Amino acid sequence: MRSCKLSSGASLPVLGLGTWRMGESPRRRAEELDALKFGLDLGYPMIDTAERYGDGGAEEIVGEAIAGRGTCPFIVRKVYPHNASRVCTIAACERSLKRMRIERIDLYLLHWRGGARLEETFEAFHRLRDAGKIGDFGVSNFDAGDMEDAARLDRGLNASNQVLYCLSRRGPEHDLLPWMRERSIPLMAYSPLDQGGLLGKSALKKLAGEIGCTPAQLAIAWLLAQPGVVTIPKSSSRARVKENLAALDVKLTPQILSELDRAFPPPKGKQPLEML
Ligand code: NDP
Repeated sequence: MRSCKLSSGASLPVLGLGTWRMGESPRRRAEELDALKFGLDLGYPMIDTAERYGDGGAEEIVGEAIAGRGTCPFIVRKVYPHNASRVCTIAACERSLKRMRIERIDLYLLHWRGGARLEETFEAFHRLRDAGKIGDFGVSNFDAGDMEDAARLDRGLNASNQVLYCLSRRGPEHDLLPWMRERSIPLMAYSPLDQGGLLGKSALKKLAGEIGCTPAQLAIAWLLAQPGVVTIPKSSSRARVKENLAALDVKLTPQILSELDRAFPPPKGKQPLEML
C-alpha cells in the first residue's frame, strides 16, 4: 500500500481502520473484534484508536485483534488533553500499551488542544520517543493557527495532524492543508464518510454508479487522490471493511474530479476547522 514518509523514516500508510464507537457495548464487541481482525487479514496496515473510545474499551479490542500476529500494524493513538500534562501523558501512554499489550505506539497524537500546556505535552512526547515507547508524535483537531503555535514550540513536530476532512467538509483545503503540504506533514482525514452522512448524497451516488464503484469507495478514493492525505474509515462490518479497502483500486479521471468539485465545492475562503 502507498504510504507517506515521516521524518523519522517511518512510513505512514494511506489507509487504516478507525475505531470510534468500538468498545462501548458488550453486545457489539464480538462483531467489532471480528471486523478489525478481518481488516488486518485483508491487509489494512494501520489502526487508529484513542483512550476516549469506549473509555479504553476500543484499545482493548485493538489489543485482541493484533495479538499473535507476525507483523503488528501501524498503531495511531490519541491522548485526552486533560491527560496531556508532562506526567500524565506518559502515564496515559503506559496504560494504552498495557491495554493493547504492545511495547510501542507508532504515532501518538494529542486529541485536541486544551488542558495542559503544549510545551508540557511535547516534552512528554519527546521523553516517550527517547524511551522507545512511541515512534512519532503529532496532534489532532489543530487548525492552521494552532499548527503555527505548535511548530514554533517544537520544530520536530512533523508527524501528522488528524482532522475532520471529507468531500462534504473541505474547509482544510483553504489554508491548513497547504500549510501542512509545504512542511511535508501528512493530514490524516477522520470521518471520511462524514460518519455515513455523505453516502446518501445523490451526486455521489450518481458518480459512483457511473464509474462502477460504491459511494463509500468514491468518497475514500477522492481523499486518497489528495496529495499528502491519509484516511481511516471505520466499520464494524466485514463486508464494508472489504468494500472500503477496495477504494485503493478506484481510479479517478480529471472529469470525475471536476464533477465532484461541482457537487462538493472547495472552500472560497477561511472556514474555522470543524470538529466532531
Ligand atoms: P466514518 O466517516 O469512518 O464513518 C463511519 C460510519 O460509516 C459508521 O457508522 C459505519 O457503520 C459506516 N460505514 C463505514 N463504511 C461504510 C460503507 N462502506 N458503507 C456504508 N456505511 C459505512 O466516521 P468516523 O467518525 O468513525 O471516522 C473514522 C475514524 O476517525 C474514527 O473511527 C476514529 O478512529 C477517527 N476519528 C477521530 C476523531 C478525532 O477527533 N481525532 C473524531 C472522529 C473520528 P458500520 O460500522 O456499521 O459499518
